[in-house]
Amino acid sequence: MGFEWLASKPYKRHYICINCRKGFKRPSEKDIVSAKSKEDYQPNCPQCRQKMTQVPYTFEVPKQKDKKAWKKLEERYKIE
Ligand SMILES: [Zn+2]
Repeated sequence: MGFEWLASKPYKRHYICINCRKGFKRPSEKDIVSAKSKEDYQPNCPQCRQKMTQVPYTFEVPKQKDKKAWKKLEERYKIE
């Protein structure tokens, strides 16, 4: 559920949900079509429905238990 790390392809986007402490890769050209522009595309977390934060493709998602790492991320990628 949500962890499709092995199926990564370059066009996929990488998002994290700081709320759930999870990483998601969105297969997204399809999903993006309805957005005004690719940059506007802002998916919500499938679990908590909050906006996810886009991170660099090479970003490594910390383990869920790693509270310190997530705290840092929270500060770095504040969700408005
Ligand atoms: Zn979430």
